[in-house]
Amino acid sequence: MARGAVAVAMALSVGAYAFTVPSMADVTAQRQAAEQAQEEQAVQTASAEATEVALTERRAAVVQVADSVAARAQVAKETASAAALTAEVVAPLDEAVAELGELLELARAESAASPVSAPEPAATGPAAPLPQSAPSPTEGAAEPAPEPLPSDAPAATPTPSASPSETTIVATEVPATVAGVDVPQGPEDATTARLREAVEKVAQASAQVVLVAEANSAAVEVAAGVQAAAAAESERAAAEAARVAAERAATRAAWRTSLDKYSNGQVPESALCDVAFDPSHELRCDAAQQLEQLDAAYVDAFGVHITISDSYRSLAGQYACTRTKGSLCAAPGTSNHGLGTAVDLGGGIQTFGTRQHRWLVANADEYGWTLPDWARATGSKPEAWHWEYVG
Ligand SMILES: [Zn+2]
Repeated sequence: MARGAVAVAMALSVGAYAFTVPSMADVTAQRQAAEQAQEEQAVQTASAEATEVALTERRAAVVQVADSVAARAQVAKETASAAALTAEVVAPLDEAVAELGELLELARAESAASPVSAPEPAATGPAAPLPQSAPSPTEGAAEPAPEPLPSDAPAATPTPSASPSETTIVATEVPATVAGVDVPQGPEDATTARLREAVEKVAQASAQVVLVAEANSAAVEVAAGVQAAAAAESERAAAEAARVAAERAATRAAWRTSLDKYSNGQVPESALCDVAFDPSHELRCDAAQQLEQLDAAYVDAFGVHITISDSYRSLAGQYACTRTKGSLCAAPGTSNHGLGTAVDLGGGIQTFGTRQHRWLVANADEYGWTLPDWARATGSKPEAWHWEYVG
């Protein structure tokens, strides 16, 4: 072999050695790369765990609010029942409560299935090989992913699939309060987002029901007030009517004996009362008042007043009557006309059998007036016109 050939062979040999055996620098670089990859994986793991913790915390807070809102809904329903609200008014609340109950069950079932509430990064150290606590990556990814995205989920992110745990996050821009209660801000998974919306719905429906119940109660109170006022007014009116009636009865009783001190036909005009519908005639006041009442009923029946021919008759008048009419007039000093309690009536009443006479026979008693037995058609001295007050 020529020298040149040997040199080439050696060079090739060295070259081959250099190709298959890595230098110290190469080994260091590889190690560094591996370490870096491991560190990146650790960072990713830590980040995924932090996300899991945030998701869990947020859900726990929303569940807590859900429980208190469900209790509030129960109070609202009791209020509605007390206010006698219709089922129609309470129906939206019932629906919202039912939905909330289902979601609470779902949330609790999920939480029980994946207890991620206690992250344990310290136990295995930062260089833990697997990012997921689930036994295999495929199983870990499959577990939360099938959660259907609600179409009305607000601020839903475009579901990035960078890491398995991130696939469950549907909302990152989340409200800081739920039903007025502060909750930790952070990512939400689909169930938490739906639960949050159901909580808001129940809170609103409860408030609405309570509002209607209060308005209803106010209306009922107003109605009760009006009814009470009407009852009080009616009671006052009844009391007033009773007072007036008692007063009239007392007055009438006083009038009944008001002429007792006078002799027949000797009553002064001042002690008598005019008959209101025919003031040219006078009677004892109670007789006059009751004749007016009888006349009012007579007007209702015939459209005209009762015709009065004679009423109080003084002793002088009784003598004159006897002189002109003879036995048609009572002996002077004995006639009821002299007591202011008798009238002679006309306008048809003076004749037995007329409509007017029959009506008076049927109705006069109610007002204390009567046709005395002796004056009746079958009496000792029939006088259809002569009526006396006996009330
Ligand atoms: Zn008479």
